[in-house]
Formats: sequence, C-alpha cells, structure tokens
Amino acid sequence: MTLFEKIIAREIPADIVYEDDHCVAFRDINPAAPTHVLVVPRKPVVNVAEASAEDCELLGRVLLAAQAVARAEGIDGSGYRLVLNNGVAAGQSVFHLHCHVLGGRALSWPPG
Ligand code: AMP
Repeated sequence: MTLFEKIIAREIPADIVYEDDHCVAFRDINPAAPTHVLVVPRKPVVNVAEASAEDCELLGRVLLAAQAVARAEGIDGSGYRLVLNNGVAAGQSVFHLHCHVLGGRALSWPPG
C-alpha cells in the first residue's frame, strides 16, 4: 500500500482540500510554492508511464480535479503549473500517480 493510498484511506493524516469519486487532493507536506496541492487518483496507478488505455478517463479526471483545486485556491487567474513526475530521474518519490498543483508565485522555466 502506498503512502498516498494510506492518506486516501485516512490512515495517515493530511490536509485534504478536495475530493470527488475519482480523486483526493491534499496539501504537499513540503510545499514548493504558496499553493502546493497533490491531486491523487483513488486508483493506485503508478505514474503516467504505467497507465493504460483503461485509465484514459481517470487521467482526465485528475486534470479536472487539478482545475477545481486551482480555482478553489484562487490561483487560476494568475496562472499555475501542473507537474506529473514519472520515474526516479524525474524526481518521482511516491509511486502512486499524482499531479502537483503549484501556484501563488512566479515559477521559472525550464525547471532545474
Ligand atoms: P514526487 O516527488 O513527484 O513523487 O512527489 C511526492 C510529493 O509528496 C513530494 O512533494 C512530497 O513533499 C510529498 N509528500 C510526501 N509525504 C507526504 C505526506 N505525508 N503528506 C503530503 N505530502 C507528502
């Protein structure tokens, strides 16, 4: 069971800011921006690289949940970044797909 499955099951506390039938979103414990929320599908897909065609709708649900989070956090007007790290070299540390919603400050590009 991944850390994020335990958060979804309420076995580990988290600051949950949004949930629907498909996704749960909670604040990152080590925020990289004033708003830093993780949108996690209830289904424990490892990452985009491991997703299959049957996850097509789920992937869309994750993005729409991220949109809802950004609106609720009030960062949709200024702009925000969505990040899905895939694999160790990309910085993925929790192997349960999650979309970082980052905003509330100017974000440089390209990332380091
Ligand atoms: P990634 O490096 O893309 O796999 O992102 C994993 C994220 O999970 C990191 O930004 C961590 O700070 C965050 N994280 C780790 N443990 C927790 C936790 N217990 N609650 C909330 N966020 C966490």
